[in-house]
Amino acid sequence: MSLHGTSLINGGPIAPGGHPFAAASPLHPEPLSPEFYEATEADVHRALTAAEAARTALEEAGSQGRARFLEGIATELESLGVPLLERAHLETGLPLERLASERSRTTGQLRLLAALLREERWRDLRVDPPLPERQPLARPELRRTLLPLGPVAVFGASNFPFAYSVAGGDTASAFAAGCPVVVKAHPAHPGTSELTGGAIVRALRNSDLPPGAFALLQGRSHALGEALVRHPLLCAVGFTGSLRGGRALFDAANSRPAPIPVFAEMGSLNPVFLLPGALHSRAAQIAAGLTQSITQGGGQFCTKPGLLFGIAGPELDAFQSNLEEAMRAALPSTLLHSEIQRSYESGAARAAALPGVQILTESARPPEPALTQGRPLLLGTDSATYLAERSLHEENFGPSTLFVKAPNLEVLLQIAARLEGQLTAAVHGTDAEAEAVGALFSILEQKAGRLIYNGYPTGVEVCAAMHHGGPYPASTDSRFTAVGTAAIQRWLRPVCYQNFAAPSRWWNNL
Ligand code: NAP
Repeated sequence: MSLHGTSLINGGPIAPGGHPFAAASPLHPEPLSPEFYEATEADVHRALTAAEAARTALEEAGSQGRARFLEGIATELESLGVPLLERAHLETGLPLERLASERSRTTGQLRLLAALLREERWRDLRVDPPLPERQPLARPELRRTLLPLGPVAVFGASNFPFAYSVAGGDTASAFAAGCPVVVKAHPAHPGTSELTGGAIVRALRNSDLPPGAFALLQGRSHALGEALVRHPLLCAVGFTGSLRGGRALFDAANSRPAPIPVFAEMGSLNPVFLLPGALHSRAAQIAAGLTQSITQGGGQFCTKPGLLFGIAGPELDAFQSNLEEAMRAALPSTLLHSEIQRSYESGAARAAALPGVQILTESARPPEPALTQGRPLLLGTDSATYLAERSLHEENFGPSTLFVKAPNLEVLLQIAARLEGQLTAAVHGTDAEAEAVGALFSILEQKAGRLIYNGYPTGVEVCAAMHHGGPYPASTDSRFTAVGTAAIQRWLRPVCYQNFAAPSRWWNNL
């Protein structure tokens, strides 16, 4: 499968211009071919000028036209077959089976949004009929509907090269809303990005939509992303990645002469609260479920449970032995790139060196340095140390978790109340513990976008009821989701039409 190594603007690859950079693989030390070329500020301008020129046609394609386009992207992604998965495997180190299921999730997401468009309810049309006889004032007809915001920039994360990348949830929902998209490719998987971008270009062509409706900008400098966010033709930003990156782009967007919305989905610690009754009846089962959730995908999930809280006592001690045993048996796995591995190792070492924090156990198998592996790690501390030490409230991206013992339920509730915003929060309890479960959830619903009872946070279902977001710092706008059909709402703007005679050309698409 041949690659150009350049950005895609207006329906095809551009001439190589900016600085060259190599795609790296976590699986071997040699750089991957071909070389990629960083997009320039002039490319940002070209991409956004083309996007602006395409916006009317994309909007006028209507729900049916855009539904066909989204389905076309899904078909093109499937027709890239195994070579797409192989390139993604080389660039990310993720196993082929996992990549195959992630691609299915991505095509399923595109088709789900197409089905949503066909229903038309996404427009949330509200009509107040005229009341000409009303006293003391007549009322004109009022109609409120939703319109696309305009060109959107999408920044994907390294850990989901399909589902949160070039043709992932942000791009799919922005297209569904009728917004042209300019993607800043993640520098950790530029080849996968180019192949996926090619699929979108072909789907646009097959749907008779203007090629400017999509662009892919390659690059690994923060300056490129910032130039994109600051461009005056850009109307909104979708970001998935680290808190540092999301915050930088949020600040850049807000310091523009005309600020624009940034929907940044960032890291999360996904706390899990373990009540004694649940541990009494299901200690081994919960330990196995949590270990799987902590280490799956090398712990490189934004929904990885990074904090476990329980009440000191015999149930928690028994559970700790089960958890230690399961974590010792878990195998190291290849992390996405050497920087993530370094940052995982140094984060774990910093936490373990804090007074009051201990390494409870780690994988019995040492990591393979040549394979950029991270080792499953269980750290432990007491609630006083956890509450006092700010750095323990930050995500460490990789297969580790912090196990915190509280002396009683009151302290557990204090811990819940002190949490920062999260994507998810989970409680394991029993019917007999209903009061404690209720008290926890009434605090946790202020803290997280998804509450889980007797379950695990990893595995984000793509559906109508999903909410993937949460109060800051989990996301920059807790009212919106990055996953599921409601994700379309981020890219729409309400407009009210007053005293327009219907039917009119404006209602044809309603
Ligand atoms: P990342 O380093 O923040 O990168 C994400 C994208 O943002 C890249 O394209 C990156 O490109 C760009 N970027 C980062 N910092 C920037 C800055 N200061 N200015 C301009 N652009 C910037 O994230 P990652 O390492 O790929 O992903 C791991 C993180 O994502 C974890 O924290 C994980 O929890 C989170 N995540 C969240 C979700 C969610 O749904 N909430 C899902 C998956 C992952 P450059 O490097 O070229 O600048």
